Amino acid sequence: MTPLIEARNLVRTYEVRKGPFSRPQPVRAVDDISLALMPGETLGIVGESGSGKSTLGRMLLGIDPAQAGAVLFEGNPMPPPRSPQWRALRARMQLIYQDPLAALDRRLPLGVQIREPLDIHRIGSGEEREGRVRELMDAVGLRDDQAGRYPHELSGGQRQRAVIARALAARPSLIVCDEPVSALDVSIQAQVVNMLRGLQEQNGIAMVFISHDLKVVRNIADRVAVMYLGKIVEEGSSDTIFRSPRHPYTQALVSSVPVPGRRLQSRVILQGEPPNPAARPSGCAFHPRCPLAVDRCRVETPHLRPVGAERTAACHLVAGTDAAMAA
Ligand code: ATP
Ligand code: SF4
Repeated sequence: MTPLIEARNLVRTYEVRKGPFSRPQPVRAVDDISLALMPGETLGIVGESGSGKSTLGRMLLGIDPAQAGAVLFEGNPMPPPRSPQWRALRARMQLIYQDPLAALDRRLPLGVQIREPLDIHRIGSGEEREGRVRELMDAVGLRDDQAGRYPHELSGGQRQRAVIARALAARPSLIVCDEPVSALDVSIQAQVVNMLRGLQEQNGIAMVFISHDLKVVRNIADRVAVMYLGKIVEEGSSDTIFRSPRHPYTQALVSSVPVPGRRLQSRVILQGEPPNPAARPSGCAFHPRCPLAVDRCRVETPHLRPVGAERTAACHLVAGTDAAMAA
């Protein structure tokens, strides 16, 4: 079966200046990343701030162009950004990000904004578009009369519901969600995530779910990719990654998440400085913080390789079999 979306050896480097007079330094935000997502599947992407999650999400949609490598949508190369073909494809690929107020136009009522993709892509008659807006508002838990409201008249949760309705309007095949609930009140985050999950399943939409919140990712993702300084260091089924993480970085991240069926373990506190993308350590980029690092780790970069049937991991010390590693 052809993946809905596939990334092959993606690279994105930014030139970043520390100050107005300093020389620009290259930052490899995404460093040789490959992945594939099947229709209807949810891939969670986790990692600390600066690991390249958002850049990868934008690259999958073709918003941020790849400097090397390629993105394929249904087996075909992604059209050049802003080209007519790319704009047409955007109806099928949507982005939901953290701040609904920034995503919405303050001057337009919600109903008009939810209808926007249908107008842009000329989907349905005027009457059908109105019907679709009502259907979407109902699906995300907004009332009909809220179609005439402006973004600032609603709560954060209601605004994000409207953003989700708009993202679903043109019946996309893929949604990239970048920290979609992290700006919302903790008390309503679960409601919005459950709603999103329900709508995604009903409509068979594939989803890339970017989050630093591993509890949310565990609830929503079928598969998980763990990123560290622009690279995927472990990837596999959500169940496998959360129950028996193999990469020392993944072990530290998931040690803070209670998982049914996994024995209770003490939380691993990551040592050392948080990753600095402008000063990537040699060899395994995680070695300055890794409790298991050996000499080889300082000079040789580990590559992702299969570990059992359900995952890949990039660590010199992780053997090819999938016997649970003591965490
Ligand atoms: P966060 O959770 O903080 O958003 P992230 O894992 O999503 O982090 P990115 O936002 O993709 O990571 O950033 C990865 C690296 O690329 C960072 O060092 C960031 O400063 C840099 N970067 C991202 N976008 C740009 C840009 N437009 N211009 C320059 N540097 C950028
Ligand atoms: Fe730690 Fe070495 Fe594995 Fe990197 S390769 S995660 S430094 S043991």
